[in-house]
Amino acid sequence: MFYTVKLKTVIIIALIICALVPVVACAVTSAVSSDGVAVPIIMYHSVLKNQRRLGKYVVTPDELESDMKYLRDKGYTTVFIQDLIDYVYNGKTLPEKPVILTFDDGYYNNNYYLLPLLKKYDMKAVISIVGTFADAEDETKTRNPNFSYLSWGDMDELIKTGYIEIQNHSYDMHKITSSRNGAKMRKGESLADYEAFLNSDIMKLQNLMEEKLGCKATAFVYPFGAYSRESSDIIKKMGFLATLSCTEGVNKITKDPQCLYMLKRYNRPHNKSVASFIK
Ligand SMILES: [Zn+2]
Repeated sequence: MFYTVKLKTVIIIALIICALVPVVACAVTSAVSSDGVAVPIIMYHSVLKNQRRLGKYVVTPDELESDMKYLRDKGYTTVFIQDLIDYVYNGKTLPEKPVILTFDDGYYNNNYYLLPLLKKYDMKAVISIVGTFADAEDETKTRNPNFSYLSWGDMDELIKTGYIEIQNHSYDMHKITSSRNGAKMRKGESLADYEAFLNSDIMKLQNLMEEKLGCKATAFVYPFGAYSRESSDIIKKMGFLATLSCTEGVNKITKDPQCLYMLKRYNRPHNKSVASFIK
């Protein structure tokens, strides 16, 4: 009798523990729903005080700061693309409400206005650079937040602060010509030629980054968000673990590596704060 009661007690305790485990896990990772961790990504470009320059891709430092305050007050924590990769591949956790701030094209004014704000709010940001823009910068000449780009020296300093992650926005595909729109396939181009073209351009910037910064990008950011059906497989083959699009929406990050491709982003123009699309 005593043995039976004891056994029953053990079974009941075991059942209680089993029932408790998922509850504890849910509490720790409350942002994880059955379809993944919700990760909004915001797309910025230039940050300038000049009122005449403001527009779809240019916000003021005050607007950027108000976004940061809003996100902080709403309980968001900024992460890098690498943090998503570590979550998917390396078993690392994400904060309860992750958000990613991305800045495309590598403007010098990011150094000027973004970095001090990142330090002030202890936030992280991702800058996606264009190789030809960086190569054209000459640190010995006068440089201006209105039109200069980050030099390799600037980027080296930014990475060392720990607040910035640098990603690949192509070496020389950030342009629309009569025959090609960004990284899109040309009309009538063979798959082999398209693959060779993407490889030579994108890997040129990867190699430059390794030479100048000692690190390679883990994500490719499509210039203008332009891509073809064939782009994704080619870029994956090059070793990129994530790609960023310009399609708007919230990402759901699961343990499936496929979820890191064609990540969605919200463009944040002048006069439309993040509060209008992130709650
Ligand atoms: Zn761009």
